[in-house]
Amino acid sequence: MSQYFDPAEALARPELAKLQAARLKTTVERCLAAPFYKKALAQAKIGPGDIHTVDDIRRLPFTTKDDLRANYPYGFLALPKEKFVRLHASSGTTGTPTAVFYTKNDLDAWADLMARSMFAVGVRPSDVLQNMSGYGLFTGGLGIHYGSERLGCLTIPAGAGNTKRQIKLIRDFGVTVVHIIPSYALYFATKLAAEGIKATDMPWRIALIGAEPHTEEVRRRIEELLHLKAYNSFGLSEMNGPGVAFECEYQNGMHLWEDAYVAEIIDPNTLEPVAEGEIGELVMTTLTREGMPLIRYRTRDLTRFLPGDCPCGRTSRRIDRIAGRADDMIIIKGVNIYPMQIEQVLMSMPEVGQNYVIELFTDGVMDNLRVKVEIKDEYFEEDMRALTGLQKRVSARLRDEILITPKVELIQHGSIPKAEGKAQRVVDLRGAE
Ligand code: AMP
Ligand code: ZN
Repeated sequence: MSQYFDPAEALARPELAKLQAARLKTTVERCLAAPFYKKALAQAKIGPGDIHTVDDIRRLPFTTKDDLRANYPYGFLALPKEKFVRLHASSGTTGTPTAVFYTKNDLDAWADLMARSMFAVGVRPSDVLQNMSGYGLFTGGLGIHYGSERLGCLTIPAGAGNTKRQIKLIRDFGVTVVHIIPSYALYFATKLAAEGIKATDMPWRIALIGAEPHTEEVRRRIEELLHLKAYNSFGLSEMNGPGVAFECEYQNGMHLWEDAYVAEIIDPNTLEPVAEGEIGELVMTTLTREGMPLIRYRTRDLTRFLPGDCPCGRTSRRIDRIAGRADDMIIIKGVNIYPMQIEQVLMSMPEVGQNYVIELFTDGVMDNLRVKVEIKDEYFEEDMRALTGLQKRVSARLRDEILITPKVELIQHGSIPKAEGKAQRVVDLRGAE
């Protein structure tokens, strides 16, 4: 096969463990040069000499987003500033962003991981790839871009938005692969239909979708509406960006690139590993990054390790699609609710269109949920009675899933404005209405 199936992807587990242990030791060594870790490792009384197996990772301290913020901008650099050539930042909307720095080698290693990820879902050098995510500080722009070039694809840096122009580029240049955020992919489908273009007439065959939580129902919709195969792509700026875990052609969870990262799943309360196969917080350690190594970074993302081997032959562990972020949890009337539970219900109903928003509001003295959901035109034009019936059905299906009865508002297709970039699924209006 090609160089983009790295032998590390199919190592026997004991071999992989050896490789990881050696790289972990190097990582801890490198960390000693970073002001934050120098202190943190001294406090934990642990150093590279204590790392013998990869399980020794559990003796190392965690790193949190707050640590990154508190040591902003340069407190995590393990090399002199002159060695760095690139900076990205996380998409967090509040407070100080978290900045990530890359040396030339780091960029090179990241491009390789990205090329491997794309190769795993069938992208080949003969493909034409259009990258529809925003360029700039967001890693989905340049990260995908350099990976695509590394693999050898003709790469179109279309950027975000301007759907009409995106469609024209795809048709004019015979684009076969697109990188697109799932919420934008759904919006794209409605635009395509509005332009009278059949998805079956589009030249594409693969979409790489990621950067935001989405359900299996959304993936299926994207595949049907756009008439292509959509593959889940996971990453976060703190771990370079995209290319941390990626589906293969079997679409049965995302392979972690374990030669470059160690993944743990912990109980966020006890900080101990969860039982095999249980959902918990994903914790990630870089193994190959030289400029800004991170140890046991608490991602806040919730997922689980998937059991069993993958027919593709890769031995790396797979994680389930991200169930949500620990910070996304909504507590209403004492019940814990994740936005993805709501999405799953909505997107499994054929009458429901491609967008929705969840509003938190104060109902008298109680907090409550309002789900505004777009309805497909053919159902919206029906009579009042049919619409009321549909509203009741949406509400009942949601109650079965989330155990409380939210207010449901059916709205016309296209009435929720589509933000550029990641979708804002939850709006908190408590105290504002
Ligand atoms: P950023 O570093 O700003 O690009 O944001 C990274 C975060 O986006 C991750 O920590 C996840 O919460 C989310 N994310 C990225 N990829 C996915 C994915 N495939 N599925 C669900 N969430 C994702
Ligand atoms: Zn596989």
